[in-house]
Amino acid sequence: MKTAVATCDFHTKNMKTTKNSLCPCCGEGTLCSFSRDYLAKIGEGQTIKVPNVQMEVCDKCGEEILSLEAARDVDAAIAEYTDRLTPKELTAIREEFGVDQTEISEALGLGGKTYHRWEKGNQYPSRSMGYYLRILREYPEVFAWLRARGWQARNRVTTSEKSPLADMQSRFPTLAAYPSRLNSLATDRRNYATVLFAKI
Ligand SMILES: [Zn+2]
Repeated sequence: MKTAVATCDFHTKNMKTTKNSLCPCCGEGTLCSFSRDYLAKIGEGQTIKVPNVQMEVCDKCGEEILSLEAARDVDAAIAEYTDRLTPKELTAIREEFGVDQTEISEALGLGGKTYHRWEKGNQYPSRSMGYYLRILREYPEVFAWLRARGWQARNRVTTSEKSPLADMQSRFPTLAAYPSRLNSLATDRRNYATVLFAKI
């Protein structure tokens, strides 16, 4: 019986026997498990070398497939090299502020789940946001000030009074007989001009 190892052409001392799995990219080659250097793209055509990354490599097309854990290790290496904050640091900063992920997202003016995604390592804050967070960490009273402003809570009071359609009906009474047109005005504010000047 042929094993995965017998079909692998790679000769690396770290090569390991793996389950005889078919490559999902070319559908022909066999995936072999390796621990080797990985060239990670960091933008603007630049790469960095991350050592000893566990991956599956196709013996036919050469596709490298990283596990979620290995991909996070690569992300952490990129974060360190590019001076981005790592998920661990992001958690530490938030805990120092004594807030949960939703509260910190709200204070920083981010989408509700953004900080959660950063801490999970599913997304990374930009380098400039990283510097901003480092400054806030140095001056927690500035974070307290930011949080006390509660910009989102203030915003909710002013925008939630009317439904978008009712708001459009009062603003454009001549279009009241055309609810579908008012609806498109309400849902896509960039189309004001297109909808208003279109022939009815
Ligand atoms: Zn392949």
